[in-house]
Amino acid sequence: MNSFSDKIISWYKINKRDLPWRNTKDAYLIWLSEIIMQQTRVEQGMNYYISFATSYPTVKHLAKADNDDIMKLWQGLGYYSRARNLHATARIIADKYKGKFPDDYTQILSLKGIGEYTAAAIASFAFDKPHAVVDGNVFRVLARVFGIETPIDTSQGKKEFYALANQLLNPKHAAMHNQAIMEFGAIQCKPVSPDCSVCPLNTMCFAFANRRVAQLPIKAKTTKVRNRYFNYIVLHHSGTTAINKRKAKDIWTNLYDFPLIETEKELSEQEFLASPQWKKFIGKHKYSITSISGIYKHILSHQKIYARFLEVNCNVSLEKIIPSSAIIIKETEIEKYAVPRLIENYLTKKN
Ligand code: SF4
Repeated sequence: MNSFSDKIISWYKINKRDLPWRNTKDAYLIWLSEIIMQQTRVEQGMNYYISFATSYPTVKHLAKADNDDIMKLWQGLGYYSRARNLHATARIIADKYKGKFPDDYTQILSLKGIGEYTAAAIASFAFDKPHAVVDGNVFRVLARVFGIETPIDTSQGKKEFYALANQLLNPKHAAMHNQAIMEFGAIQCKPVSPDCSVCPLNTMCFAFANRRVAQLPIKAKTTKVRNRYFNYIVLHHSGTTAINKRKAKDIWTNLYDFPLIETEKELSEQEFLASPQWKKFIGKHKYSITSISGIYKHILSHQKIYARFLEVNCNVSLEKIIPSSAIIIKETEIEKYAVPRLIENYLTKKN
């Protein structure tokens, strides 16, 4: 068909990794793997994929599951909106599509949490439909091989890359072609210092010929990162503690953390304990602080969290202190709740 597609497919047949979701045509399992692998390294995502596929072998099992159980299984993987969307979409497929994954690209694309890339991946991998996938790996390969300087994070760039990807797609082998180009980007045409000397595309690669490998692909914007300062209050009274289920419109929705005082800037311990927020929180209740942690730095895609944990023993029942959004639990039961990795790290270090 075209030499680009032939070359990457030949390369793929020899070099592909044996990944469990590649040995199935089950759209549910393919979808599961695609959602888990977004922004995730294969080594990290593999165990999550196996746990989900084992605990919820079909979309109906996932639809019926308790949301807290799903969040708990997702714990540590980050980008938690993926887990919430996974559950919402499983319910839609169970109800609206009677448990059968739709095979039409537009219908797949209309599902929650599924963008153009994932819809094309499911349509091609599960149903062999001729839709080209364009993920970070594909952007990189195309930008380098064909010397495209249009920034990949602009609408013009997306249009150009999608058009080229679809033009190159071998429609007779859509699944194989898509798997091949993604794997080629992940293993051969890596972001930093790829070994171009052994690359089967080096005779047709613009970036290699023009020494532009390190400069391509081009991005227009740099991500703005917001710094946030969290002061977590870990309360104790007679073997109980308080946790808080996080609400929508912020990070970690539906996960649990401790009662939190967020400050505009980083405060020293003394400044924090003298702050009006702390005084308002603790009121006139008697307490003793048994420890104050150092600063835990936690980096998300658009936020840097600087967190400190205060362990506080209280003389009164916690319900007199905690905000209305928090609940009281036995200290020994905290492991049952899905918490962000930051909290998990603190609890592991503390114990
Ligand atoms: S020659 Fe280098 S830059 Fe070009 S496709 Fe191969 S690995 Fe990527």
